[in-house]
Amino acid sequence: MPNIKTLSESPSVSSQDTIVHKLALLDHAPKISVKSLTKRARSKWVGRAILQPLVALNTLRSQDSEDWMNYKSSFGCASIMKQNGKTLTTTYCNQRWCLLCNRIRTAKMINQYAPALKEVERKSFITLSCRNVKGEELRGEIGRLLHTFSLAVRRAKRKMDVVGVRKIEVTYNEVEDTYHPHIHGIFSREVSDALLNAWMDIQGDKSSLKGQDVGMANDGDVHELFKYATKLFKVKKGEKGRGEIHFDPISQDAIFRALKNKRTFQSYGMQVEVSEDIEELEAVEVEGLEEDVNTWHWMSSEGTWKNKKGDLLTSSKHKDSYRIVIAGKNWERIRQEYEKTYRIPISEI
Ligand SMILES: [Zn+2]
Repeated sequence: MPNIKTLSESPSVSSQDTIVHKLALLDHAPKISVKSLTKRARSKWVGRAILQPLVALNTLRSQDSEDWMNYKSSFGCASIMKQNGKTLTTTYCNQRWCLLCNRIRTAKMINQYAPALKEVERKSFITLSCRNVKGEELRGEIGRLLHTFSLAVRRAKRKMDVVGVRKIEVTYNEVEDTYHPHIHGIFSREVSDALLNAWMDIQGDKSSLKGQDVGMANDGDVHELFKYATKLFKVKKGEKGRGEIHFDPISQDAIFRALKNKRTFQSYGMQVEVSEDIEELEAVEVEGLEEDVNTWHWMSSEGTWKNKKGDLLTSSKHKDSYRIVIAGKNWERIRQEYEKTYRIPISEI
């Protein structure tokens, strides 16, 4: 896909002209399947439902506070799809908490990094971590973790070429109410062993060998590496074969705040330097889509996009196969506070 970002920087064109301009450049729309479009509908549907409690949580904060997060900006993500022939064009929010953008981001990262990672001999998957911390310590701990890792890389570089990618990930332990920031990376076995040694040395007593791991990596690990920085939700088995998506807004919000302005991914010694950003405007050609000129609007109640005639763009089976459960420590208190102050249920945000 061409780099269309630079065009929007031209101050002389109005935003409408810019969009037309950009569209003219999108002559090689990547192809996706109807199945993949349906998965995007599912991501948008789940993503929107988990956005509501995040927005509520944020509304209770002052907009001037450092903790303020622009969750609202994701409501408009891919909300209108313009169809021309088999091509669909829409705009994306490019936020880290957006499931739909994350789906596209993961695919982009895999496509662009995978060829370079293929060249790495005796590929290994490394995990490095420190202690679990409380929410208020998380941001500082992430900073320390990334700094220690860069020191370890510097030491390894004195002895060998360092080629690979690292990612920061944070998981939440609901029993202890603590956060576990850690680093995953794909490097050669030799580099991973050197990084682990340097890591242990720099950490001194702070890191035990527990929580550190170096294992052989396969293609599945490469795929896993490029997934989101946080698991976002848990899928549990519900009644009647339905899945239950459990989302804890408070812990996830703490993770997004702690990761604000920090790079999730960093590559070393590669020709490619891939940005985590996805294109804000994207056109895709959907193989198997009936040719038409149409405008599709997102309808949460339908779980997919709908046109004026009432046709649905994709299947919306996910609405029946999943139930979304918003829960977690202190959530009930926040929900009541929001609904008392703003007098609307969070599900109607
Ligand atoms: Zn988005």
